[in-house]
Amino acid sequence: MTDLPAIVAQIAADMAGEVERGAVADYIPELAKVDPGQFALAVALPSGHVISAGDAATPFSIQSVSKVFTLAIALGRLGDSLWNRVGREPSGLAFNSILQLENEAGIPRNPFVNAGAIVVTDAILAGHAPKVVLAELLAFIRAAAGDEDIHINKAVARSEQATAHRNIALAEFMAAHGNLRNPSALTIGTYVHQCAVEMTTAQLARAGRFLVGAPGCPRLVSPARARRINALMMTCGHYDGSGEFAYRVGLPGKSGVGGGILAIAPGRASIAVWSPGLNAQGNSRLGTLALERLVRATGWSVFG
Ligand code: GLU
Repeated sequence: MTDLPAIVAQIAADMAGEVERGAVADYIPELAKVDPGQFALAVALPSGHVISAGDAATPFSIQSVSKVFTLAIALGRLGDSLWNRVGREPSGLAFNSILQLENEAGIPRNPFVNAGAIVVTDAILAGHAPKVVLAELLAFIRAAAGDEDIHINKAVARSEQATAHRNIALAEFMAAHGNLRNPSALTIGTYVHQCAVEMTTAQLARAGRFLVGAPGCPRLVSPARARRINALMMTCGHYDGSGEFAYRVGLPGKSGVGGGILAIAPGRASIAVWSPGLNAQGNSRLGTLALERLVRATGWSVFG
């Protein structure tokens, strides 16, 4: 039996000694203030028991990890018709790239690049007020985590809104192609609040259990849907670093520019890691390294 507490503690101790920590996202001014010296790793077992080390009780901005939850909600509401508006292929481009939208008639490559996530948010907004959709998102995340103490950081949302030129451009470009149902200001306003959800690493690990597919995990989506969300996380969850993440870690994962990563070891555990410094693709540098070590120590890669 693997000694998980010892492995998790050892990885956190090793990460504390890492000098090369990456750079915090600074295009959202509020995120630029976060101390890059922080690190947390949390492993949630199907029972809900969490093994953690480091700053696992410190809330951070989940940013694009929120796209996993909004995708689950959108598929629940629209089913497969969502795929008329967004694809399921890796993009090989930066998270906020507009390049493919021109060639591909305003249909984003996948639900995890910004353009795709904006379409997903637009789809769940249809006919609802933003605050209703955001309340639904928080309710979903709180149910998944089994924890009511999860909120949106308004300062982070305001800070992103004030500098959201690229995301507004993506939304307007898709509107020009008939792939946006709401005014871009409404959709982007909702999107930046969704990205500004704050959670601790321990809460995020617990919240990912609905994708683990083991007895004891919350059943918020069907097993077939969980399998497909995991497939998209594996192929598209790290933008143009998705291939590298699959190669090094070998688990479905979704990163955010706040430095968080949610990774799923199917049938075994939900893992969250947080370290604010990012690599060139906008994925947590130490987060990826820590997951690589965890998988090596546990043998949890889906590739054996
Ligand atoms: N809110 C961020 C943006 O749209 C999310 C990006 C990310 O976390 O990768 O720029």
